Formats: sequence, C-alpha cells, structure tokens
Amino acid sequence: MAEIIDGKGFAANLRVAIAQQVAALKGQNLIPGLAVVLVGEDPASQVYVRSKAKQTVEAGMRSFEHKLPATTGQAELLALVAKLNADPAVNGILVQLPLPKQIDPAAVLDAIDPAKDVDGFHVINAGKLATGGDALVPCTPLGCLMLIKDRVKDLAGKRALVLGRSNIVGKPMAMLLLGESCTVTIAHSRTKDLPAECRRADILVAAVGKPEMVRGDWVQPGAIVIDVGINRVPTPDGKGRLVGDVAYEEAAKVAGAITPVPGGVGPMTIACLLRNTVVAACRQRGIAVPKI
Ligand code: NDP
Repeated sequence: MAEIIDGKGFAANLRVAIAQQVAALKGQNLIPGLAVVLVGEDPASQVYVRSKAKQTVEAGMRSFEHKLPATTGQAELLALVAKLNADPAVNGILVQLPLPKQIDPAAVLDAIDPAKDVDGFHVINAGKLATGGDALVPCTPLGCLMLIKDRVKDLAGKRALVLGRSNIVGKPMAMLLLGESCTVTIAHSRTKDLPAECRRADILVAAVGKPEMVRGDWVQPGAIVIDVGINRVPTPDGKGRLVGDVAYEEAAKVAGAITPVPGGVGPMTIACLLRNTVVAACRQRGIAVPKI
C-alpha cells in the first residue's frame, strides 16, 4: 500500500515557517501585503478568496480585499490593477479567476506588475520559469514540487509524466520538473496510449479535471502519484463528494506514495501563495529571500 502524502500537514508546517519569516521581516520594517480581487459572486471563488484572506492575516501579513460587482467592466478592473501596481503596501496581487465574460482574463493578468504577480501567470513569469530565471512560480505546481521533493531529494534522471498542459498547472509543472533534471513527458487529450505513457513514469502528476481517470493499472509500481484534480461527483444524498483525477483506491495499491483528494495538493496552493507574497515583498525591497 502506498504511503499517503499528507499535503494538509505539510501545508500547515509551511504556513508556520512563513509566519516566522514574516515576523522576522517586521524587524526590517517590512510587512508583506497581498491584494485579492474578486469580481462577481461565484460561490467557489468566494470560498477561495475568504480562505486566502484568512490565511494571509494568520501568517502576519496584510490582506487587502477588493470585491467588485459581476457587472464590472474591463476598464474599471484594469484601473484597480493599476492602482494596486502603484501601491507600495501591496506586494502581491491576485485576481481571482474565472472573470465574468465581458472581461478578457489575459488582458487583466498581463496588466499586473510581474514583480507583484504572486499567481505566476504573467507571461514574464512564465518566460522566466521556462528560461531558468527568478520567476514567481504558479502556486499549485510549486506546491506539488515541494511534496515531491519531500519524498525524493534528487530528482535528476527520474521519468516524470505530467498529465495536462494548462498554463496554470500542467506547463509550469513540467518546467519545474525539467528544472530538477527529470526526463519530462507532457500528456494531453491527443496523447496516444495514455496508460502506457503513465506506466513509464516514476513521478506521475495528474492535472486533467476528469474524475478518477487515471486507473490503478496506469501506475508504475512504487511511483509517486500527485493528484491535482478537484472534481465534485454526485452521491445518492445529493451532497456530492470530491474526487481527484486518479482512482485513489486502485492507485494506492500500486504507487509508492500518493496524495489524497481532499487533503493533498489543495492545501499547498494557498500556502505557496503566501510564500510567493513573501518572495515578492523581499525582492521588491532588495531583502534576501528567506529559505524554506
Ligand atoms: P484545464 O481544463 O485547463 O486543462 C486540462 C488538461 O487536461 C488539458 O491540457 C487537456 O488536454 C487535458 N485533458 C482533458 N481531457 C483529457 C483526456 N481525456 N485525456 C488526456 N488529457 C486530457 O485544467 P486545469 O489545469 O486548470 O486543472 C486541472 C485540474 O486541476 C482540475 O480538476 C482543477 O480543478 C484542478 N486544479 C486544482 C488546483 C488545486 O489547488 N488543487 C488548482 C488548479 C486546478 P488538451 O490541452 O489537449 O485539451
């Protein structure tokens, strides 16, 4: 049976370490500030924004929340982003996705100062990550890498398969693993013989958004399986339950270690957002970034 990778516990420890770093930065007259912008009333986004704000404050940082109505126009949102870019108390800016349909997300993400882009979605940060620069790295793949490196100290030469090629998870995940000298394969909806590709992987990261798509016999015995997927599936009581992109019970019989859903990758995302805010704040002030 696979070892369960406790992302929840790991994220809690990470938040404690970050809070200690934030406390130390106060001595240098720096209190990192994170601005979160929510447009509209998407219920899942409201939950995310609430927990981001709560955890920011718990870590000793400043949280600035901006809630705009669903009817907000693009120009109005861009004006707010420009204001936050210019505000020295704001070190990180996050615009919660998805945005209402009258707003082009790419235009908004590209308007964020790359130095404050704590989501790591700006093309400058994507480019820096791809070319080995000092990028702000997207939070979910950064969290996945931390969980993987906690298991395997030297990733050089390991075969990694990333299932999914989105700009926010799949591609940056692949870049991070490549940066660790893994031999990386990126699989997607046009990949041929996906089960065989998965079976070759020492490290398998599933970020596909299809409930329990990765079956137990797709997993190489002893592999590390990181399940990014968050999918709500119906249950007879109507409440639904969360499952990942991996058929957990089956895969856990074969894998060496596996993240559960919930309690695996999910909690790492916000912890890494806090980490990115500290990194951004230190770089803006020319202070050495504390190590994790
Ligand atoms: P996207 O929908 O943007 O990307 C999904 C990727 O999966 C695409 O590259 C797509 O391929 C590929 N894909 C879809 N169907 C298949 C298939 N049948 N076979 C092979 N590949 C397929 O999703 P995201 O990257 O944004 O998110 C992925 C999952 O991760 C979701 O469940 C999401 O909820 C979750 N997530 C979790 C986070 C967390 O904090 N834990 C944060 C972000 C996301 P193609 O490009 O060819 O269409």
